[in-house]
Amino acid sequence: MIRSLYLFALLAVVAFGAVWLADNPGNVSLRWNDYVVQTTLVVLLGATALLSVMVSVLFLVYRWLRKSPGKLGGLFASRRRSRGLDAISHGMVAIASGNPDDARRAAIEAEKHLSGEPMTLLLAAQAAELNRDERATGIYYTKMTEKPETRLLGLRGLVNQAKRNNEYQKALELALQADQEKPGTDWVLKELFDLSLQLKDFDGALKYLERSGKGKAAKDPARLHLKAILEYERAIRRLDASDVQQAQALLQRAHDLDPDFVPATAKLISLSDDGRRREKLISAAWRQTPHPDVALAIKRLVPVESEADWYARAKKLFLSTNPDHRESLIELAKAALAAREWGDARKYLNALLESDPSVSVYRLLADLEEKANADAAAARNWIQKIPEAKADPEWHCDHCGRIQRKWTSRCGSCNSFDSFEWKSTDVDLEDQLIEAQVVKELTGN
Ligand SMILES: [Zn+2]
Repeated sequence: MIRSLYLFALLAVVAFGAVWLADNPGNVSLRWNDYVVQTTLVVLLGATALLSVMVSVLFLVYRWLRKSPGKLGGLFASRRRSRGLDAISHGMVAIASGNPDDARRAAIEAEKHLSGEPMTLLLAAQAAELNRDERATGIYYTKMTEKPETRLLGLRGLVNQAKRNNEYQKALELALQADQEKPGTDWVLKELFDLSLQLKDFDGALKYLERSGKGKAAKDPARLHLKAILEYERAIRRLDASDVQQAQALLQRAHDLDPDFVPATAKLISLSDDGRRREKLISAAWRQTPHPDVALAIKRLVPVESEADWYARAKKLFLSTNPDHRESLIELAKAALAAREWGDARKYLNALLESDPSVSVYRLLADLEEKANADAAAARNWIQKIPEAKADPEWHCDHCGRIQRKWTSRCGSCNSFDSFEWKSTDVDLEDQLIEAQVVKELTGN
């Protein structure tokens, strides 16, 4: 109430003053040298009030800027940063969706707003990679290696680039730099392993494989199998250098690491010295991995041997260790045929006809009819069954389907490592037949 009265009184005074001033405008005259300004008191008072307001506002702005000098600059910087980040995120999406033009545009935009930032460099490098601009890719990844926070990432990009250009030695050297930067990084050890394999440095590959799997992982069967292959390859190199003793030791290690790995077992048998130890090795091998390559290694242990002697040896070994296995029966049938033991040969082949009639079983039966009875018609009868017979197992590349008689660690067609598996090539055909049957049942045709 008192405040309202006070305000009312103030308004009354101002109104009275304004009316009074309007009635008595008066004259103000300013003279400075030759300049003369003539005005009324009201205008002079109004101009003075406006000037004071303007000076006050300017003073306030000045004080705000003085108190926080980075505010204005910060405002612009944060806008720039936000535009740069937008460009980076667009660029990353373009890269993930495989759009080279958008990725390049985003990289240029990011460079404009966030030049020299690690993410900008990464985007520029990946955009160049997507655009297949190898020169620019190299430049950006190299720039990344110059900053500690992006060095490892830059090296990874350069390793991949070298691999794309089939420069495996260069890729290995870059991967070694990455290993120095951060020892034991998973991808680095994997690259070092793969590149050593590519360069046929099996000692190196083994070293990196051992470094990458410690503790429980070291006992993983797939890893043990890989190690067995590497020891086998090292042994072959020792053999090439006529170091039979070292080769034997390495083959023994390969065999111990993976007793199912046939090439090492067969090679170990072929190098073993006559004696009790060899007999034990052979028996254990035929029990564990009955395989034509193992049988051949066992056969060749006696270089000059009559067919009857080999059949006697085979019978003793195969029947005592693995009598019902398909490979035992096939090897025995072949040996009996060569030794002209027709009755025995027929016995083994009949057993195979029951259990596993493959192409070679029909071939051996035809052979038997011709040799034992000179019965060409009966032989032809068996031969006619071959096209529908199950294929015999062979070394089969899981990646490209190449089939070969002899195992190799790397496929000659698709360059895959450890891709050969001993299996019948009919497996896929069987799958297709089952699949066709299922489709038939489902569609009711
Ligand atoms: Zn292959």
